[in-house]
Amino acid sequence: MIKAADGGFHRSAALAAIQPSATIAITQLARDLKKAGQDVISLSIGEPDFPTPDNIQMAALRAIQEGQTKYPPVGGILELKDAVRRKFQRENSLDYLPAEIIVGNGCKQVIATAMMATLDPGDEVIMAAPYYVSYLQLANLFAAKPVIVATSIDNGFLMRPEDLERAITPRTKWVILNSPGNPSGAVYSRYALSALAEVLVRYPHVMVLSDDIYEHLVYSEDKYWTIAEIEPRLKERTLTANGVSKAYSMTGWRIGYGGGPAPLIQAMELAQSQLTGGACRISQWAAVEALDGPQESVRQAREIFLDRRNVIVAALNKIPGLTCRAPDGAFYAYPSCRNFLGRTTAGGRRVQTDEDFCAAFLVEHGVSAVQGAAFGLSPHFRISFAASMESLDEACNRLKEFCRAMT
Ligand code: PMP
Repeated sequence: MIKAADGGFHRSAALAAIQPSATIAITQLARDLKKAGQDVISLSIGEPDFPTPDNIQMAALRAIQEGQTKYPPVGGILELKDAVRRKFQRENSLDYLPAEIIVGNGCKQVIATAMMATLDPGDEVIMAAPYYVSYLQLANLFAAKPVIVATSIDNGFLMRPEDLERAITPRTKWVILNSPGNPSGAVYSRYALSALAEVLVRYPHVMVLSDDIYEHLVYSEDKYWTIAEIEPRLKERTLTANGVSKAYSMTGWRIGYGGGPAPLIQAMELAQSQLTGGACRISQWAAVEALDGPQESVRQAREIFLDRRNVIVAALNKIPGLTCRAPDGAFYAYPSCRNFLGRTTAGGRRVQTDEDFCAAFLVEHGVSAVQGAAFGLSPHFRISFAASMESLDEACNRLKEFCRAMT
């Protein structure tokens, strides 16, 4: 083993530029506390709490029995690429050729290979804060520069076109859009997306990554819009990324996909070919069933999340000192804890930051939530409502007590 100067294990410079996922770290801490016997409610992970629907499970069992157990093509089996094409056509009016589709180990890997395939040191990647933690870390991993566009609770956590335009430079390689957003739950309307598109058409060197993983969890009755659909002139430089994890409760199956221009997809396949032998073939068959099969479970999940959203947002706003905007999509609430900074918890912990707030809440009341700092916008914290109504009720009671007892 190569030793670093301090005698520890030497990490590559690339790895030194990235941080472990804060959400995974706090979820692991919650698991450890639970194991040690503490009564812990984990609201830090973004994962539906329903089982994967039966028809999807059966498709995987059939795939195993039919011998679909060998290496898949690196970029995905043709049957799944076709199901993805039908999905894009049916739901987003987007036509892609098979050469314009890639399948990866989750939407996260699709994003990662896109970054790996395109970023040179010093390139810039624009993202709105609060952002999904991996956007920032992936930009760092490939020696690019994350460029953060701040949003605020007052404008619904949406990136404004004038702020986007100000952030674009000759080095901008990507602009990442995420609607509904993690952690904000913000959804870009057709109008808001058109305004961003109007800016982006003026900068042909900029590629657009639209992360649509929460597409099916939108709480208004409005149609869902993705940018390549709104502005066909952007389709040739947009990667529309999505996956089955959130919509079909398939987080553990690890299937994501993307549609984009063939040269980009080809470059991503090359990157992927050295990172993995492709996504699990059995899971790919399950994903074919998810996309082509009955969609009733998706509608049911949305209804359940909508009920939970309404309950949790009302409960949070009833706690004196907390303010929470109702998220328009995804399954996260992102309240502000500004009024608690500078105060002291019942357990004697001083709260200076949202990180202190979350750490004290976990240790003193056994509820894990993630500090806004992890997503680049403080002082907030993220609560996932992908948990049972009883856990959410109990977590809100504990939060109320935690906040009430602060001096
Ligand atoms: N994008 C966003 C915004 C997410 O929140 C997540 C999962 N938390 C992903 C991508 C990754 O999804 P997958 O499970 O498909 O890798």
